[in-house]
Amino acid sequence: MYICEYCQSKISELDAGMPCKSCGAKAYIKDPNYVPPTRTSTTPRTQTNQNESAQGLGIGQHESKSKLVAILLVLFLGMIGLNNFYLGQNGQGIVKLILTCAFWPITFFWSICELIYYLVGKPTDANGNPLT
Ligand SMILES: [Zn+2]
Repeated sequence: MYICEYCQSKISELDAGMPCKSCGAKAYIKDPNYVPPTRTSTTPRTQTNQNESAQGLGIGQHESKSKLVAILLVLFLGMIGLNNFYLGQNGQGIVKLILTCAFWPITFFWSICELIYYLVGKPTDANGNPLT
C-alpha cells in the first residue's frame, strides 16, 4: 500500500507509478513514517509532527540546565521558586511562590522577633551556650 504524498489518499500496489486518482500528483511514499529530505512545506501532517518532536528533543538536549545554578538558586532564592522556574517546572514554582507570599509574614515576623531578641536579650544556641 502506498500513500499519496500530497493528499494522503491510499494507492494500491497495482496503481504504483500512475498519477494519484485524487489529486493527480505522482509522488507516492510507501512508508507513512518516511520523511522526505526536501519539500518540507508540503509534507503531510503526520510527518510534520514527527519533525517537530525530533526538533524538540534536540533543543532539550542542547539546553541542558546547570546543576550548580539550580543548587545556588534553591539555596538563595528557593523560597520564591526560582530554581523551579529555572528548570521549567513553572507549576511547582508558582505553587511555592504563592505559599511563600501567603505565609512569609509569619516567618518574617518570627525573624524580626529573633533579631530583637538577639540584639537586646541573652540569646543562646541549642545547647544553651550564650552567643558571643
Ligand atoms: Zn493525491
